[in-house]
Amino acid sequence: MRAREDQRPVRAEVSAPAGPAAATDRAGDRAGGQATGSVDGPLAASARPLAERFDVALLDLDGVVYRGDAVVPRAAESLAAARATGLRLEFVTNNALRPPAAVAERLCRMGVPARAEEVATSAQAAATMAAARLAPGAPVLVLGGAGLREAIEAVGLRPVASAGPPGPPGSGASGSSASDPAGPGSAGAGSAGAGGPEPAAPAAVVQGFDPTIDYARLAEAALAIRAGALWIASNTDATVPTERGLAPGNGSLVAALRTATGQEPLVAGKPERALHAESIRRGGAHSPLVVGDRLDTDIESANRHGTPGLLVFTGVTTPSDLLIAPPLWRPTFLARDLAGLLAGAPAARTDGPAIEVGEWRCVVDDGTLRWQPSRRRPTGSDGAGSDGAGPDGAGLADDGLDALRAACLAAWRAADSGQPVRALAADRPEAVADLTLG
Ligand SMILES: [Mg+2]
Repeated sequence: MRAREDQRPVRAEVSAPAGPAAATDRAGDRAGGQATGSVDGPLAASARPLAERFDVALLDLDGVVYRGDAVVPRAAESLAAARATGLRLEFVTNNALRPPAAVAERLCRMGVPARAEEVATSAQAAATMAAARLAPGAPVLVLGGAGLREAIEAVGLRPVASAGPPGPPGSGASGSSASDPAGPGSAGAGSAGAGGPEPAAPAAVVQGFDPTIDYARLAEAALAIRAGALWIASNTDATVPTERGLAPGNGSLVAALRTATGQEPLVAGKPERALHAESIRRGGAHSPLVVGDRLDTDIESANRHGTPGLLVFTGVTTPSDLLIAPPLWRPTFLARDLAGLLAGAPAARTDGPAIEVGEWRCVVDDGTLRWQPSRRRPTGSDGAGSDGAGPDGAGLADDGLDALRAACLAAWRAADSGQPVRALAADRPEAVADLTLG
């Protein structure tokens, strides 16, 4: 995709609140899920650890906390340490299959204590969307698993499994909501008057990931949508990771129904607003930080909704992906893993055509991205370690990502000015030895 967001200038000497300001930073000026605006980016500075700067971490799960059935190294201890500083956690997943209690139980088994109230799923967000549009008690065809069914029940809607009585779709012969001039939103009340043993026509189809979905259930959903039911998808992720590789995700089954119906669903999950708002509401967040491994869901969601985002490299995104990211996919902060919550972030400095981060300096020279030691580097230093962080995070010890940060900022600036990087210098720091242009 191409960038839709405005080009953001690199901020020289981005400063973070320090001293007394720290006390007010967590409270922020956020209200109603809107952005605080107190953190700029991409790759903003923070002299203080992120866990002390934000009140709630909105944590993606797969690729951040766990990978498949294994906890990500350092995740459990980092989250425990972050909690000890006062950071609250909300686990946010696009996967609608498991109910929050099951997600929490799974996290606990992995050594990450979590309660059901600390989990926000795309199923809950989809149910909230449906409830806002339907009459209480309206029948909803649930094309998904237990997580979606429970979420629909929890908002006072009634899960059903059938598209309703037989009859040519859209003909009105069935007396379904399709022919109701008041639209699908009235079907909840209308269905009660259908009488007899025939099932009520669903007012909505809510679709989420469920590996047991078969043709018969897809067909019921298609018939209901064609008959005029509101269609909500929990998310549109094309694939889901499995131990054997990428398998079709909810987005692939959404595509099947899109083909069959010619309709487009409303979407609840990341990067759309509903799940983001749901997670902020459930987490009671005033100054949240999105933490994720994907640029197209986690980071795009953060940027679209004005929330700072921390990208971790424990999931699908590689440093090379980041180097060519369009503006909407550029994170506020970078870290190797969740231990990044316990650290600050270095300031970027512009110096003529160069951008410096920590002890590295990058320039784009005739289309080639080059690294040099920064002018601040102490004599004899190899770029590893320094201390005495200033109020702008300028003196933070290199976490091994400063050469990448400088490279990204230089490459993004070049791309935004219409002259993207075409080559990477062969002579470069060890930390970015594997970087490519895709
Ligand atoms: Mg993920």
